Amino acid sequence: MSEYKAINIRDFETTHYYKKISDEYQNDLKILTLIFPFKVNSYVLEHLIDWDNWESDPIFKLVFPHRKMLNEWQFHKLSQALDTNNEERIKKTIYEIWMQLNPHPEGQMDLNVPTLDNKKLFGLQHQYQETVIAFPSRGQTCHAYCSFCFRWPQFIGRKELKISLNDTTLLLDYLQSKPLITDILLTGGDPMVMNFRAFKDYLDPLINNIHTTNVQTIRIGTKSLSYYPYKFTTDAESEEFIRYFEYIVSKKLNLSLMAHFNHPRELEPDVVAKAIKRIRTTGAQIRTQAPLLKNINDNSKIWAEMWRKQVNLNLIPYYMFVARDTGAKQYFEVPLERAWKIFSNAYRQVSGVCKTVRGPIMSALPGKVQLLGKTEVEKNGNIIDAFVLRFIQARNPNWVNKPFLAKFNKHAYWLTDLEPLYGDNFFFQEQLSKILSPAEKLFNEDYESELNYSL
Ligand SMILES: *Cc1c(COP(=O)(O)O)cnc(C)c1O
Ligand code: SF4
Repeated sequence: MSEYKAINIRDFETTHYYKKISDEYQNDLKILTLIFPFKVNSYVLEHLIDWDNWESDPIFKLVFPHRKMLNEWQFHKLSQALDTNNEERIKKTIYEIWMQLNPHPEGQMDLNVPTLDNKKLFGLQHQYQETVIAFPSRGQTCHAYCSFCFRWPQFIGRKELKISLNDTTLLLDYLQSKPLITDILLTGGDPMVMNFRAFKDYLDPLINNIHTTNVQTIRIGTKSLSYYPYKFTTDAESEEFIRYFEYIVSKKLNLSLMAHFNHPRELEPDVVAKAIKRIRTTGAQIRTQAPLLKNINDNSKIWAEMWRKQVNLNLIPYYMFVARDTGAKQYFEVPLERAWKIFSNAYRQVSGVCKTVRGPIMSALPGKVQLLGKTEVEKNGNIIDAFVLRFIQARNPNWVNKPFLAKFNKHAYWLTDLEPLYGDNFFFQEQLSKILSPAEKLFNEDYESELNYSL
């Protein structure tokens, strides 16, 4: 392997790649990187980006911000502020724009933090009965930053916008108090940026005592197979990570990497196949997920090719997401109708082995909602279009897998743009308001007793 190096914007300006981009874009980049966190690395620059076509290259657009990610007004206000050289004014303008970019969509910050003995467990999120999400504090960065990422507030260094946790013993206490939890999902950032010591220190208290909980699956959300596959092959600590994966599996746990791939290009380098092979020898499984993004992968051929390649490499396609309402959304967002068409056209091109994938999915306030499609229904004697949706996961598990209807809306991008086809409210809305109020009482035990699994 060539030497791996993290590259920030100052470093990038000194590389020979910098000379490949236009003068105009060099200037844009100075302004854009004040707002959007920027980080790449030598592997991404060398092996994933086609520099001869940099402007249209999907991986370039995946890691480099684009001028259209700000509106004209924001861009000009920021350039003007920069011209004044007034530090206070520049800072104020940056902060103003950050706030306009909706840093915490869907109530991530306050709504999903669980409590134990009246203490808020910051660094955890518990929205769906079976699964707790954990944010190890040392894993709150990535090997490179994706330009579309809704996690970007975590990278820009303002403390009050960050969510993270160090103390896994609290997580263990929480798991012991909640026997319905079967899954822990480590996320970030990217937990696989941690060095081995941090990774082991975080997981040891959990894995060593996992028999005192009802946890059966450890999931790790990661982009490392795309941005730094050497992590699992020739990196100095790769052997230790592989041994630790074996240790997790030896505890009769299901270890699942939730690997993030946006484009088939990311699967092409030989080192990716090697990394996958090595991870698979531990008994771990690898599932794949990614958002659908305008300008990067909004094309059914790309998805069909990606799923096929993934299955050939022993990966399990899992979710296609709708891009969230945050950050530079107007640059990346795809209307729901089009998202459904792209998903369906791709789904039609592949055999059943790829059809473990589900999409398009919105991780919305009430739950993970899948747009099943557009159909025709009769209303007041007329035939009209409607969207059919269902919950894959929900704050109340009783909502899951009940199809429900919304008025067809060509201009809808998200669940909140939709209206029920019949009546004033969706079937879940009244209960949702109850669950969300008061805000802290997020994960509501009331419906645990309502649940009826015996069919
Ligand atoms: C996606 C998600 C999960 C995991 O859902 P699965 O369907 O089990 O993969 C858990 N919690 C939250 C908040 C999520 O958004
Ligand atoms: S790797 Fe994941 S968390 Fe990191 S920037 Fe990309 S999408 Fe965001």
